[in-house]
Amino acid sequence: MELKKMFIDGEWVTGSEGGTSKSINPTDGSVLAEVTEGTVEDVRRAVAAAKKSFYQTREWRDMDSQARGDMLLKIADAMEVEKDELARLDTLDHGKPLREAECDVDDAIHNFRYYASLIKAPCGGVYEVNEGFGKMHSYTIHEPVGVCALITPWNYPLLMGVWKLAPALAAGNSVVFKPSSNCVLSSVKLFEIFEKVGMPKGSVNLVLGPGSTIGNELAENMDVDMITFTGSTAVGQGIMRAAAGNVKKIGLELGGKSPNVIFADADLDGAVEWAMIGVFLNQGEICSAGSRIIIEESIKDEFVKRLAKKANAITIGNPLENPDMGPLVSESHMNKVLGYIESGIKEGATLVCGGERYTEGECAKGYFVRPTVFDDCTDDMTIVKEEIFGPVVTVQTFRTEQEAINMANNTEYGLAGAVFTSDGARALRVIKEIRAGITWINCYNPCFNEAPWGGYKKSGIGRELGVHGLEEYQEIKQININLNPGVLGWYEH
Ligand code: NAD
Repeated sequence: MELKKMFIDGEWVTGSEGGTSKSINPTDGSVLAEVTEGTVEDVRRAVAAAKKSFYQTREWRDMDSQARGDMLLKIADAMEVEKDELARLDTLDHGKPLREAECDVDDAIHNFRYYASLIKAPCGGVYEVNEGFGKMHSYTIHEPVGVCALITPWNYPLLMGVWKLAPALAAGNSVVFKPSSNCVLSSVKLFEIFEKVGMPKGSVNLVLGPGSTIGNELAENMDVDMITFTGSTAVGQGIMRAAAGNVKKIGLELGGKSPNVIFADADLDGAVEWAMIGVFLNQGEICSAGSRIIIEESIKDEFVKRLAKKANAITIGNPLENPDMGPLVSESHMNKVLGYIESGIKEGATLVCGGERYTEGECAKGYFVRPTVFDDCTDDMTIVKEEIFGPVVTVQTFRTEQEAINMANNTEYGLAGAVFTSDGARALRVIKEIRAGITWINCYNPCFNEAPWGGYKKSGIGRELGVHGLEEYQEIKQININLNPGVLGWYEH
């Protein structure tokens, strides 16, 4: 079996201690690949390579924006050629249905193209300033931050990486990328593409291995100028602490427990379908999942009936064959989700459908969980408070608009949320009250390369995607020019 390696300073290398781990196919528990395991020493080498590339050889940083943009377009074109393979790898490694993996690859390709053109757009500003020290011209330019460490989770193995890699590289930074050790195959393929298109030596580095050692080293390393992280809130908090040593620039995209508020005047069948997209897409392994349905009391019973009917009809199976849902990413994650389901039952929620592992036919060896709906939920239940990251949704009811808003905001997270109603004014009123960074009206979960993505409260710091996503990887320099050089006379009283 071929060993998947790291890419450091332009070379494919194995971990310094020779350790390896196995990439497991969650559909049947089989081994997909053997993966080298990096060490703290390897990370230090990768950071040193990125540092040399940014501060000494400067090939990527100094490449003019047109040439840099062209290189990103070459990456996108090469990904297009490998599109089927990239999608297949994410489906095998993660378990998402192939059609969803194909959408991810399309989005990733367009992300590179988007930042390839955005880097050529005007940026910076010219400022009218006071004349206390004489007439000045004040303006700003954007510069790359330097060495950027990028750490990602397993739920969108390729896409979460590209959301960071494309803007970081567009801005001219050198990077060290660490994907989740659960799903590395598409990242290795992407770095093969980087090598093939001729990214300068040391500008792109891939390290593989456990977060607790090599991820932590990236957060602590004094030569890393910026760390951006997507993952759980608990790990994000640790990264923030570890990054304090050299006051790294930091970006955090963390967990969520997002409300989906449905009023009685909403199009009911539409709301049911979007609610399902909200929480069953990607097996519910979505940070923005609409995992808390908050619905007007008068329509709750009818809504739950229709939702359960559709949830029970969801097809589950080998994700390469395009069922509605594949397996969860790993056995341990499946057990965690089943543990939450158990706690929901123990704490008094009504299990309407699902609630168990799915083991029909060939699924017996995989980590499948049936789509699960809990009714009669209350704010104090664990399943309402904690992020489950699986196909589990809770239902709560409200009578007044204010009650709905209070319930929606009764969470430590603030990533996403939605409102369904046919009353336009109410839709805007309620959405403005929801304390979350990504919101939808009469839909759930669409996400765009062009628009900013990120959370309030414990869901993170900063924004990915769009113009903001590029600016995260840039420093802003203020330049002030004295328009009348010569003696000012400040000390001549
Ligand atoms: P995780 O926090 O366990 O791991 C994320 C990454 O951090 C992995 O690469 C892991 O190896 C690494 N890591 C682990 N411990 C570390 C440490 N001590 N120091 C540095 N790095 C470390 O998260 P996960 O289970 O991979 O992903 C699920 C989480 O990601 C969910 O909470 C989900 O909401 C969140 N997520 C958020 C967004 C968003 O845009 N806000 C998007 C996707 C996923």
